[in-house]
Amino acid sequence: MNRSDLQRLKERLKAIVAELPLPNPWNLETFLEALGHQRNRPIIVRPIELDGPTPADMPSGLWIPRQTEDYIFYEPRTSRPHRQHCICHEVGHMVLRHNSDPNRPGQYLHRVFENIDPALLDAARARTSYRFIEEQEAEMVATLILDGAGDHRRTPRRVKSSTARQWHSALGLRL
Ligand SMILES: [Zn+2]
Repeated sequence: MNRSDLQRLKERLKAIVAELPLPNPWNLETFLEALGHQRNRPIIVRPIELDGPTPADMPSGLWIPRQTEDYIFYEPRTSRPHRQHCICHEVGHMVLRHNSDPNRPGQYLHRVFENIDPALLDAARARTSYRFIEEQEAEMVATLILDGAGDHRRTPRRVKSSTARQWHSALGLRL
């Protein structure tokens, strides 16, 4: 993806985020409820219950669209800002209709990029698989939602690990 492609993508995603019912002041629960109304599909958010310590490959978030509602599962044992980011990332997949093919079971299982080895991140960036592009897009939407794209809303700072910083700067987003 070259610089102008990235710019076009950012503009497209900004336009999509601008249509979302972002509450002022920001509140995740209010947002999800309003978004459920807007889409006419309730959004049900649940923690993923696991026994024992979280394995390294545990996904941070999961979106499962059902016939009439959307489920978002999240890992509860992370900080609140990180949890918000994970949930908004899944919202990104949802609003970008990343499962619009009815023959493809809609399931997004992944770790948010916080703990990925930078070498892996480079390898992933070099790839242009459809799936990777969708992950990038969802990540950008989460960032746009939580940053409010420079508007009035104040949100807690999110993930700040150096890898996350690297990831965001690769996408041309501020942290
Ligand atoms: Zn994802």
